[in-house]
Amino acid sequence: MALNDVRRRDWSDSDEIAQLREWLGQSETAIGFTGAGVSTESGIPDYRTPNTPWERNKPLPFDVFIQSDEARRESWRRHFAMDDLYGTARPGICHLAFAEFVRRGSMSAVITQNIDGLHQLSGIPDDQVIELHGNSTYATCLECGRRYELNEIKPIFEATGKSPVCDDCGGIVKPAIISFGQAMPERAMRQAQERTLACDLFLAVGSSLIVYPAAGFPLLAKENGARLVIVNREPTGLDGLADLVLNGEVGDIFSALL
Ligand code: NAD
Repeated sequence: MALNDVRRRDWSDSDEIAQLREWLGQSETAIGFTGAGVSTESGIPDYRTPNTPWERNKPLPFDVFIQSDEARRESWRRHFAMDDLYGTARPGICHLAFAEFVRRGSMSAVITQNIDGLHQLSGIPDDQVIELHGNSTYATCLECGRRYELNEIKPIFEATGKSPVCDDCGGIVKPAIISFGQAMPERAMRQAQERTLACDLFLAVGSSLIVYPAAGFPLLAKENGARLVIVNREPTGLDGLADLVLNGEVGDIFSALL
């Protein structure tokens, strides 16, 4: 049987879906944890799939961004090239399922490594979406924290080719993502830890679970006595610890679950 056949499968009558549905039904403190794999079906590629547009538009590390205006201009060029994908993306079935679980009261929050804002767009209140790697749909001043919308910055950047600086304090304005080499956001990390320690079910979806410190949260949940469920196309390094693993396509699995 080809790998593709293993991945594509009708999950509707499977024991795994029945088990996950039962555990979700029992939970009031489940945590959803997501990686780039929940958004590929919305048209936003992950980093790992070959020939991804990220190869041409790879985000620059934080120290490079800070060092020179030339690097910042290149960074903004790449950011706007990828924003054409992000700008039109709509929530996929996992985003919608998590929004439903939050609405029902079985899921207390979603911790995400994604920077696309699709969990908020699916209807989950901002304070129940914990973004570990920031958000690429707006920008902030690195000095004073003022927020800028991309549609304010883009026309000026395109007309002048200059990288943006803050109107208030002259600080460097940067997409609100956490770049490689940049400190993790303290508040989000604290909230993620608190919610993880309070959960009884941790449902990790579409993540390779190799990017740390984010991948520490499923481990923490398991060590603290929660059930760990992993949904991903390919095996992850934490599958051996999980109570349930569903290897398949997010769309197939969540269609069956709903
Ligand atoms: P990752 O390490 O979380 O890996 C994504 C995983 O999802 C892979 O194992 C892949 O096989 C799996 N996957 C992809 N599509 C799937 C599908 N339809 N069904 C089931 N599984 C699927 O993510 P990454 O791509 O290595 O990205 C690393 C970091 O880059 C992220 O943590 C994030 O900060 C950023 N990023 C964000 C986005 C986004 O916001 N949508 C996209 C790409 C990268």
